[in-house]
Amino acid sequence: MADKVIAVADHRYRASAPPIPARLDAPTGVLLDTLQRPLRDLRISVTDRCNFRCSYCMPKEVFDRDYAFLPQSSLLTFEEIVRVAGLFVAHGVRKIRLTGGEPLLRRDLDRLVAMLAALRGADGTHLDLTLTTNGSVLERKAVALKAAGLGRVTVSLDAIDDAIFRRMNDADFPVADVLRGIDAAERAGFGHIKVNMVVKRGTNDGQILPMARHFRGRDIALRFIEYMDVGATNGWRMDEVLPSSQVVERIADEFALVPLPPSTPGETAARWRYAEAGVAGEIGTISSVTQAFCRDCNRARLSTEGKLFLCLFASRGHDLRALVRGGASDAEIAAAIGLVWQQRGDRYSELRSAAGGAAPAGERRVEMHYIGG
Ligand code: SAM
Ligand code: SF4
Ligand code: SF4
Repeated sequence: MADKVIAVADHRYRASAPPIPARLDAPTGVLLDTLQRPLRDLRISVTDRCNFRCSYCMPKEVFDRDYAFLPQSSLLTFEEIVRVAGLFVAHGVRKIRLTGGEPLLRRDLDRLVAMLAALRGADGTHLDLTLTTNGSVLERKAVALKAAGLGRVTVSLDAIDDAIFRRMNDADFPVADVLRGIDAAERAGFGHIKVNMVVKRGTNDGQILPMARHFRGRDIALRFIEYMDVGATNGWRMDEVLPSSQVVERIADEFALVPLPPSTPGETAARWRYAEAGVAGEIGTISSVTQAFCRDCNRARLSTEGKLFLCLFASRGHDLRALVRGGASDAEIAAAIGLVWQQRGDRYSELRSAAGGAAPAGERRVEMHYIGG
């Protein structure tokens, strides 16, 4: 078999500090991009490191022992993260998701959670503060995260079969530990936990029904995510994408489902409940490949080292850390963020759909573990 050859040029540093506008208009809480999409959701990557090597995200051949992860000094500190997040909130962000890499590997994350939980929207409202984790150390951390003010948890889990799960995470990590993490989160008081499964045709699509059977009857939303062409290292192929419509068909063959309305505007998941009376649980699908949802995309991403990305498939970021560490005032940074968002026109997935599933031409895309999933 021919060796897989993957270019490993480092594009992390391709970003420039955004200009500070001459007029420093104060944030109004409503910021629209060129497609009239508001800024509502901020995802913050708190580390680019991970203890898993999921082949669709951090393939082992690339992210090996020699891979240069970011040095500690280039990471935004908790104080810097909270300062920048506060400016996004002033611009209208209502939901903050902590992600990575594996966010629970960042030391003292509960301290950051407590600092972010203290932020209030312009109208005094609490933020929707959430975390996406691979669940590997959730059992130990769930209570502290809850006490610190974390609102919700999403756990990624690609199989319920131990051998398949160990292959998917490529770190020989047992499924039982993740399941104990989910149980611990429930015991700590997290309700309606989301469990995300990335479906790769031919690799773990045989796990769709076993996963549904396992979580059916619990207050858990099981969501199936189409395998995406994020980054430039996972060797993505369209024929490995199982369209969400087929996921739902497979589940509906065994369990009757009833569609649910979207819970929030701009929600990325289509949702169903089980038709059988009194049976808890929810099924969701996120069809970023077969049914692009760029039209409602209100998400910005802040990378581990403080670069702002406007799309999961972006190639270039806007270096907010340069402003933060360069002595810019809050008013200046807020105005710079405002200008960047107002110029946003990203809609990668729609362009991919328009091109029949082929990746639109362009520069190499940033990796997901770095900008945050
Ligand atoms: N390490 C944490 C985790 O796995 O939950 C948080 C970061 S991870 C990048 C966030 C989410 O992105 C996970 O649910 C993961 O399954 C998903 N993801 C990563 N690469 C993906 C890909 N190529 N296609 C679809 N989803 C992907
Ligand atoms: Fe790590 Fe999450 Fe990426 Fe898997 S998906 S390699 S757990 S960051
Ligand atoms: Fe948003 Fe970009 Fe995804 Fe479209 S492709 S939904 S713009 S992140």
